[in-house]
Amino acid sequence: MKITAHLAKATDTLLSFEVLPPLKGKSISSIYDHLDPLMEFKPSWVNVTYHRSESMFKKKTDGTFEKVEVRKRPGTVGICAAIMNHYKVDAVPHIICGGFNMRETEDALIDLNFLGVHNVLALRGDAPKNEASFDAEPGGHNYAIDLLKQITNLNAGIYLDEDILNGGKTDFCIGVAGYPEKHFEAPNPEIDLRYLKEKVDAGAHYIMTQMFFDNQKFFAFVDACRKAGINVPIIPGLKPLTSKKQLSVLPRVFHVDIPSTLSNDIMKCKSDAECEQVGTEWLIEQSKELRKFGVPVLHYYTLGKPKVIRNVVEQVF
Ligand code: FAD
Repeated sequence: MKITAHLAKATDTLLSFEVLPPLKGKSISSIYDHLDPLMEFKPSWVNVTYHRSESMFKKKTDGTFEKVEVRKRPGTVGICAAIMNHYKVDAVPHIICGGFNMRETEDALIDLNFLGVHNVLALRGDAPKNEASFDAEPGGHNYAIDLLKQITNLNAGIYLDEDILNGGKTDFCIGVAGYPEKHFEAPNPEIDLRYLKEKVDAGAHYIMTQMFFDNQKFFAFVDACRKAGINVPIIPGLKPLTSKKQLSVLPRVFHVDIPSTLSNDIMKCKSDAECEQVGTEWLIEQSKELRKFGVPVLHYYTLGKPKVIRNVVEQVF
């Protein structure tokens, strides 16, 4: 079922989760081990992230190094099909521009369509590690909106190969990313919002946000979106803060602020277990307030912390 259909028939706040594909070499059971403790809460769907390959230097037998492309977390499409089959729940693959050309993307979308996966989250992706800026692959997309247009074209039966006439139409429900604290490359929130509106006007059905720890920033973002004429559902993405290290990692990697009340409480903790407790309580309060505000869904990035998310969801739903 499409995300839009889930939202249309909802009578209360929905719940969804996000998982990462396991590192290459691990089995699908690691995904099930991760999700099993969460599935009793009956999420409406599960998102699966997508990961581009990274360049690494491998030592050769003669002592010299060669640059190799390694995709550490492959399997997004297969994991989505496995989750749908195993749990009878919808899965939403993330599709990214970075590292793929349009033909590879088209093939992945055809695979998804044949597998009965009719939801996607269309993203640009980040620059590879150790590279300063995002560059599209030759024959790839520069921005999420270009990927989105490829998907809406496919929904209209338009394939890259112009010889395909009367092509079978896909029926993807398409989500895009939004940033309550602005995307880090955007010169200001107004320009970021203008590009977000372009994605919605080009056919995005809903927005899923970057994590945030201050609900006021989310509320202001929703207000700004509505004033800008963005009327699609906005789904908050939520993550627990569970260690002191994350006080610097999360702002650096995800460009989000940590409210001082939360950072002060984390700083006072004497162990990771204490940090986890503080982060759990913060996320419970955040979630309750968002629910009261009337968000359509609470979407949790589970990222290796299913027990924490379980404790939060138990208190919120
Ligand atoms: P875009 O919408 O293309 O925006 C990128 C930047 O370009 C922004 O600064 C925007 O303001 C600007 N911009 C947009 N359109 C234009 C234009 N036409 N001209 C000029 N500037 C423009 N990454 C992964 O690799 N895999 C994942 O699975 C993944 N999942 C994510 C899930 C969520 C909910 C979120 C919020 C992010 C996720 N990311 C993921 C990270 C994401 O790929 C990065 O944040 C990336 O830097 C931007 O992606 P985007 O889709 O927002 O890009």
